Amino acid sequence: MPDKKWVYAFDEVGEAEEAVGGSWDAARGLLGGKGANLGEMTRLGVPVPPGFTVTTEACNAYVSGDEAFPEGMWDQVTAALAKVEEKTGKTFGDPTNPLLVSCRSGAKFSMPGMMDTVLNIGLNDEVVEGLAALTNDPRFAYDSYRRLIQMFGSVVLGAADEGFEEVLTEAREAAGVTDDAHLSVDALKQIVVRFKEIAVDFPETPIDQLRLATEAVFKSWSGKRAVDYRNAAGIPHDLGTAVNVQTMVFGNMGEDSATGVAMSRDGSTGENSIEGDWLVNAQGEDVVAGIRATKPIAQLADEMPDVYQQFSDICHRLENHYREMQDLEFTVERGKLWLLQTRDGKRTAQAAVRIAVDLVEDGLISKEEAVQRVSPEQIDFFLHPQLDLAARSAAADEGNLIATGLNVSPGAAVGVIAFDADKAVEMAEAGDKVILVRPETKPDDVHGMLAAEGIVTSRGGRTSHAALVARQFGKPAVVGIAALDIDLDARTMEIDGRVVAEGEWLSIDGTLGEVYYGKIDTVVPDISDRWLSSLLDWADGFRRLGVRANADYPVDAERARAYGAQGIGLCRTEHMFFEAERLPIVQRMIMTEDSEVRRQALDELLPYQREDFYGLFKAMDGLPVIIRLIDPPLHEFLPSFEVLTVEIANLKIRLASGDGDATALQAELAEKEQVRDRVEVLHEANPMLGLRGVRLGIIIPELPKMQVRAIFEAACAAQKEGTKVIPEVMIPLSSHVNELRRLKAVLTKEAEAVMAEQGVEVEYMMGTMVETPRAALTAAQLAEEAEFFSFGTNDLTQTTFAISRDDAEAGFLMEYIKQGILPENPFASIDADGVGRLIQLAVKEGRATRPGLEVGICGEHGGDPKSITLCHGYGLDYVSCSPFRVPVARLAAAQAALNDKS
Ligand code: ADP
Ligand code: MG
Ligand code: MG
Repeated sequence: MPDKKWVYAFDEVGEAEEAVGGSWDAARGLLGGKGANLGEMTRLGVPVPPGFTVTTEACNAYVSGDEAFPEGMWDQVTAALAKVEEKTGKTFGDPTNPLLVSCRSGAKFSMPGMMDTVLNIGLNDEVVEGLAALTNDPRFAYDSYRRLIQMFGSVVLGAADEGFEEVLTEAREAAGVTDDAHLSVDALKQIVVRFKEIAVDFPETPIDQLRLATEAVFKSWSGKRAVDYRNAAGIPHDLGTAVNVQTMVFGNMGEDSATGVAMSRDGSTGENSIEGDWLVNAQGEDVVAGIRATKPIAQLADEMPDVYQQFSDICHRLENHYREMQDLEFTVERGKLWLLQTRDGKRTAQAAVRIAVDLVEDGLISKEEAVQRVSPEQIDFFLHPQLDLAARSAAADEGNLIATGLNVSPGAAVGVIAFDADKAVEMAEAGDKVILVRPETKPDDVHGMLAAEGIVTSRGGRTSHAALVARQFGKPAVVGIAALDIDLDARTMEIDGRVVAEGEWLSIDGTLGEVYYGKIDTVVPDISDRWLSSLLDWADGFRRLGVRANADYPVDAERARAYGAQGIGLCRTEHMFFEAERLPIVQRMIMTEDSEVRRQALDELLPYQREDFYGLFKAMDGLPVIIRLIDPPLHEFLPSFEVLTVEIANLKIRLASGDGDATALQAELAEKEQVRDRVEVLHEANPMLGLRGVRLGIIIPELPKMQVRAIFEAACAAQKEGTKVIPEVMIPLSSHVNELRRLKAVLTKEAEAVMAEQGVEVEYMMGTMVETPRAALTAAQLAEEAEFFSFGTNDLTQTTFAISRDDAEAGFLMEYIKQGILPENPFASIDADGVGRLIQLAVKEGRATRPGLEVGICGEHGGDPKSITLCHGYGLDYVSCSPFRVPVARLAAAQAALNDKS
């Protein structure tokens, strides 16, 4: 394809856009994010050093072919380079007036630190002399040259970076300086000689430098660390990366030169003020690498006020243009400002919410856009733990606040120290919670960062690799703790004379930037943040699905309500049976075969249950409350057969050896044996498919009858006090309409009896869970009896797949997912093709029988954004999830509605 256009100059961004059909998104796909934005800034008249972009298509052709440039590409590169020469009046490789360029990778999505940039391409032994003469600054020329050899050596030729760093450290020590910027020309010349001994294949011919660097960028797309990052971030592997070749501008030309990075808003809090780091007399990566201590951006306003003013104007212009917070790179060359990059800024969850809401209030975006810009996972972050205030100040009083650093990624993390990424993974796999502590992080550390709860580094700034990656993955992080001295050989760290070893506990507060020695309790924050409330309010206005909560106790119900739940979708009554004072009564009820004894036990349980339900009705005043009648097999309330057998054996031994009072031991033995016999009777080979749910109610109707009595006595009492109660009684595990018909008749009679006794009419419904395939398939018949359906998708998934969740998740299921047999865990996200079709059928046929039938979901899927999108599509009335997921579900439901084009 010799005619194909592989190269676009920055001022040809319009052409590129046209070539891909006029869409900005497609232009970003072709030119990569960095290239497209360099073009866009050029189009807007922002000062950008001239250059051109080699397309992602060229990269794909290169990697999928024989690692050869596609036909015509290189000719287009040299032609584009000639145009840059014309624009700048400089010539590539000409010692009398050299053009230098950078070679920068840039894929469609920003992948921080994944692809490496080479600066100062075009220098060699001869050109460096010319540059020295031309600028009258040999120090600058040789500093640039040594940087080229170092970057080219490590990025393109694959030499280890440590070798170069060692040479630099030695040179600094020999010269008695702490900073590369203070090395003499002679020192730099010597460094160049020694660098070339490391980068032996360094090419002297400038055009060879450019060609090899371009190839290295293409190759790095399929390198391990790029592949790992894409896997972790869910970025497709076939996008390719573009290469940007750009005229060098120099931040290392003296005290009136500088380089920096900044965000147009605060990436941690979202506050509308420019945040960033910069350095005088430095180049490119110095700032992000955290090698030198950077200055905050506010200081730029003091030291270079004109430059700052211009920069802040550009920030605002770009924000208005992109309608989004921007992350920018700039360089000041002898007082002139140049922009080298802009992209949408990474931010914490809090900042994402605040910025989205602020942009609406600034009139830049609509409420719909704001709701779509925040991900459900980001909302989830608000519900993440923070350090408990009291425990934290106690720890501080005990002198355990050992360090303070930059608060780059909020939230609390508590874990044991690992000093490298592999160790972190190993410890996490062994079940430990881990805090990864490093001098700084690099792309090869990402697996360890993902495995860790939180991250601590001794170096690096707000825009360091550690900070960016931690924010993206929601890991609390504290970086730039200068006082922290890590000894990787001894596997210890020292801070103010205190030595802490690998494996010891640390607690970190990424919100405040604090590091504590030891293990501090965590609490979940309050989410009444003004920005979050606005965003969720808007979301409520867009969604069609209701959101309820699964809550068993009044405190959970209250929390759910505070988080915006519109009712309770599932109260599991059996949890109430496990409480210490009730369990013996429950056991007595199960043990007996005498109906009178059983009735007495149930009579004793009744007041407890009534109290539970009364609390729920009070908490949910005016909202529906679904109470599911007892579901699990009865043996779950008794000790296990194995435990009883051991206890009985021990008692017999003690009796035989006279260890203890014989009569008491005898009595205990007799009781245990009785329990064991009953457990044996109740034993089932497959209890989850056995006597449970509606079946239990049919065999022992007194049990659900007691529960219904408790529900209605509580409801009548609350209603008498003026509370609006809306009970919905739910019968679990039906698979035949006759089961439902039989039990419902018994229960309705009991409910009516209570209301007659109390002289109160409560509005209520009786419905069923749909959690077996037969229930779904016969929904038309079930709906004759059921006044509502609720999909119990945990059981429905088990019964549809014939997979036992408890066994499979620890076993073959994960292997299935690894091997790609199942695309994902069907217990996490609804299996649309199987379980989803059953749900759809049941909704349709149930509503055909009973128009307006209320239908919801109460399985764990109810809090999963993907499943929520499906539920929206199935036309359910609501999803029900844990109280902590309610805000997430509100947003996910709004996004489902906004994305619904039907
Ligand atoms: P990354 O994706 O790692 O940020 P970049 O391509 O943005 O890589 O470049 C790394 C550093 O080099 C950045 O600080 C950038 O501003 C700087 N840089 C890149 N190209 C030039 C150039 N032509 N002139 C001056 N600095 C440059
Ligand atoms: Mg890079
Ligand atoms: Mg960059």
